[in-house]
Amino acid sequence: MDHDEGMSVLLANGGFFGHFRTPTGKCSTFYLDDEVLQDKQELLEMFCRDIVAYITKQRIKVKTIVCPQNAIRFSIVLKRMLENKTGESLGHLYVPPTGILDCAKPSLEYSNVLILDTACMTGQNIGRLANLVTDCNGYVVLAAVMFNHGRETASSLLIEDLYACIEGCFEDVDSKTCRLCADGVPWDKVPQIAVSV
Ligand SMILES: [Zn+2]
Repeated sequence: MDHDEGMSVLLANGGFFGHFRTPTGKCSTFYLDDEVLQDKQELLEMFCRDIVAYITKQRIKVKTIVCPQNAIRFSIVLKRMLENKTGESLGHLYVPPTGILDCAKPSLEYSNVLILDTACMTGQNIGRLANLVTDCNGYVVLAAVMFNHGRETASSLLIEDLYACIEGCFEDVDSKTCRLCADGVPWDKVPQIAVSV
């Protein structure tokens, strides 16, 4: 996906520039509002087409999609598109905020898991979900997000592969070195997407 085009789409649909605080206490200048994004069917389809193209190109075999609750609608769209593409039905699991995975679910195949989230902000969510899959003796073949906020990589997240429709260039900074903090710029909003899992 073209970076500038993708960013302008995000900014028009729930992305904001401002002064935000991440759950780790760092400062961020970009924030995605999941609730707004989840209501935009065409937007979800656009990102899902991009992810399906990547999966097809890389010949990644996905058997189950695991996502946090904030990405439920996004994952429903991706599941449908992937099933249409491959003709095979996929397992699908939402991880509740309590973060418990039911390893015994017979309908789910943990050997080829795709973790889906709207954004990779601090990498905490994806890392946490990957650990849950591993706890079920599963394996994450891919994590896919609309937007990779900083410079997270598959190896920094300890997973096989990470795909972002848009690679961001906004690094979180420590509040001690944040120029916006130094200037006394108030936080616009408390980000919620990285604390939901
Ligand atoms: Zn700051």
